Amino acid sequence: MKEEGDVTKHLGDMDPDEFRRFGHRLVDWVADYLSDTARYPVLSRSQPGDIRRLLPNEPPEKGEAMEAILSDLESVILPGITHWNHPSFFSYFSITGSGPGILGELVCAALNVNGMLWRTSPAATELEEVVVDWLRRMLGLPDSNWGIIYDTASISTLHALAAAREAVPELDCRRKGLTQGIRPLRVYTSEHAHSSVEKAALALGLGQVGVRKIPVDESFRMAPDELADAIEADLRAGMRPFCVVATVGTTSTTSVDPVPPIAELCRRYGLWLHVDAAYAGPAALLPEMKWILEGCEDADSLVTNPHKWLFTPIDCSVLFCRRPEVLREAFSLVPEYLRSEETATNFMDYGVQLGRRFRALKLWMVIRYFGRKGLEERIRRHIEWTGELASWIDADPDFERMAPAPFSTVCFRALPNVRSGGDEAATDRLNERLLEKVNRSGEAFLSHTRLNGRFTLRLAIGNLKTTADDIRRVWDLIRGSAASLRKSDEH
Ligand code: PLP
Repeated sequence: MKEEGDVTKHLGDMDPDEFRRFGHRLVDWVADYLSDTARYPVLSRSQPGDIRRLLPNEPPEKGEAMEAILSDLESVILPGITHWNHPSFFSYFSITGSGPGILGELVCAALNVNGMLWRTSPAATELEEVVVDWLRRMLGLPDSNWGIIYDTASISTLHALAAAREAVPELDCRRKGLTQGIRPLRVYTSEHAHSSVEKAALALGLGQVGVRKIPVDESFRMAPDELADAIEADLRAGMRPFCVVATVGTTSTTSVDPVPPIAELCRRYGLWLHVDAAYAGPAALLPEMKWILEGCEDADSLVTNPHKWLFTPIDCSVLFCRRPEVLREAFSLVPEYLRSEETATNFMDYGVQLGRRFRALKLWMVIRYFGRKGLEERIRRHIEWTGELASWIDADPDFERMAPAPFSTVCFRALPNVRSGGDEAATDRLNERLLEKVNRSGEAFLSHTRLNGRFTLRLAIGNLKTTADDIRRVWDLIRGSAASLRKSDEH
């Protein structure tokens, strides 16, 4: 226990015995928490400012006892947590920080290595190389794909676009930047692509005008003929097309862009093809889902996030790249103090950041603990449950499905009473209220999107704590809540 005056007596780290005592206690705390996350409301009931008000403005002058810190963890922090570990967390893309992944994070923090250079921890670099190659093999991508771990898909895509820009020969971007009288660069992606593509364009100085959003077909997939027309029109207008971003598993509906014809267009026009498979990529572990990466063997780069649907704690995003030398050309800059002699990979050469967490460790532990088969079975179960839920929605005349559901996400909406008119604005309002009612219950958490202008509910399955019973329960909750809203509208 910490005592007054401690500060002057002992300037080292936490005492090893104290670390062991509180370490054991915290592991027990985590195990208890994870064993019964359903006891909490899924969506935090905090109002903005509630947590801040409980925290002092001033940092503590003297060190505090761990007892006091842990007590605040329970009383101050937990009420402000939205429980992504709750079995009925169905919002955004539901994720799992699995047991082996959490333990991997613990060791990662304990080792605290910075994997910027090979020599700053050879195991950090070499394990990353191996584990990323395991993932490549499991997904069935060709061995021409080199891989690197970044924090998020947004950052992976930023690096992919930077490499694509570096690959434009007349630009000589590394040396001259964007200061030359060059033709304005254009990147193409579907109107359903994730906002990270546009953010990457903002960061790289292409501006929002540099991103052409290509229309989608009735199943929300990029239309290749529209893409070809856009490229042609831009060429005629004096623009410089340089990159296409296709998505395998879009954020709103999980649609899969037709990559083979898109890749063909990229070949024809000499454009870099980047594939965003951040969410859906892991589904390609399943033999019956291999089709989702069809054509991706021709992509210059592809991102997938183990922290989304591969049970690895956030953050962990893998960028595969067939032209790592271009990525290196874009970012390698070695000052004297970072020079090293070994012939080995120095991952700092392949990105903006210098310091790098040892993220490969948790991914290694996840893949080893579950095994390829175990991962495959877990993903398959999520897809099967999604199919069942979609069939219940289809069979219910009071609901309507809004998009195909090829993975673990269903888009749907409730229909109002015919008596109340059934106009689109009323249907939107009903669904907005339905979402609010379900989420306020604390029993489940869904998210929403707009499809063809219509307010749409999204339910995503992805947590290993979720069971078939939880899916039945949330469907009952949704149906019951919609029925009570319809009833109140009658009066
Ligand atoms: N791409 C897709 C398709 C996504 O759905 C998301 C997030 O949900 C992202 C990219 C961004 O992911 P990250 O949070 O890892 O940047």
